[in-house]
Amino acid sequence: MKLWEKNVRQVTPYVPGEQPRLPDMIKLNTNESPYPPAPGVKKALDAMAGDTLRLYPDPACDSLVTALADYYHVKKEQVFVGVGSDDVLSMAFLTFFNSSRPVLFPDITYSFYDVWAKVYGIPYVQKPLREDLTIDPEDYKEENGGIVFPNPNAPTGILLPPEAVEDIVRSNPGSVVIVDEAYIDFGGTSALPLIEKYDNLLVVQTFSKSRSMAGMRIGYAMGSEALIRHMVSVKESVNSYTMNTPSLLAGVAAVEDDAYFRDCCHKIITTRERVKKELKALGFSFGDSMSNFLFVTHKDCPARELFEALRQKHIFVRYFDRPRIDDYLRITVGTDAEMDALTGFLQEYLSGRKETD
Ligand SMILES: *Cc1c(COP(=O)(O)O)cnc(C)c1O
Repeated sequence: MKLWEKNVRQVTPYVPGEQPRLPDMIKLNTNESPYPPAPGVKKALDAMAGDTLRLYPDPACDSLVTALADYYHVKKEQVFVGVGSDDVLSMAFLTFFNSSRPVLFPDITYSFYDVWAKVYGIPYVQKPLREDLTIDPEDYKEENGGIVFPNPNAPTGILLPPEAVEDIVRSNPGSVVIVDEAYIDFGGTSALPLIEKYDNLLVVQTFSKSRSMAGMRIGYAMGSEALIRHMVSVKESVNSYTMNTPSLLAGVAAVEDDAYFRDCCHKIITTRERVKKELKALGFSFGDSMSNFLFVTHKDCPARELFEALRQKHIFVRYFDRPRIDDYLRITVGTDAEMDALTGFLQEYLSGRKETD
């Protein structure tokens, strides 16, 4: 080891799902929307001209903050925006998780949480999900330095009922509770109304899944004015210009087209419910996903084998080689045609496998 290396911040980074770019691929591995962004997004980007890119963006991101505040009926002072919800969550960890007591989150959850905890030196304890992969709210009532969980949880897709979310927030007036609602638009009930009642609740959402804009990198948080003020102070101590101008323009255009947004979510939910029935008939079992993905295990065929077989056909799904979930596949809900290709292949593969048994 070089002398200087002992002072390096040693990290094991988060590993995102692979991002293949094959012309014939069916990409169901990173929970993107199969539908394009709202038509107004392209118009807004085409209309960029003159000084749009030459000048620094608005550090307060006022246009996007205002659009989101109007849409969700909250004050501008209750909205924080960032470069994807990963940026927002990372800022929230840095701002609020600053105690010697451990931050609590599930053992099976978004795998960025422990990475941020480690890079920021935050102590943490992972609470095991129940056998059926649901969160037990009772686990989040011991002394802690903060709480974070996705709702619906990832990669299980299972929703914690709103009463249970409120129970956790109410039981922890001494810590900030972050609810990561990356998938809430696919049928869950948001904890957002609770921010008026509990000043320790931060609700985080993203444009990456339900608003079809993963490539744009826009996320946001909503909470009490005090929480947002603290986050802004930390952000402005790290980098004032996190959001670029095209993202701000595109974000506003996306929020303005509510009908398109609702239609995309509705289509994905309809496809999901249909595919649930088909996968069940093929011998898969799973929790009741309320997200834009299904987390499935098969009664006979190992998940890893299916993952490899699908991959050979350029159908990409996500496989996690981790304790408790290494026999599951996480499958993003794509278009009807994409899902038909998936179930068609699975049917053929599983029946061929039975014959050779
Ligand atoms: C996808 C995802 C995020 C991050 O999304 P961004 O693209 O950074 O907005 C955060 N949390 C969970 C649970 C996710 O699945």
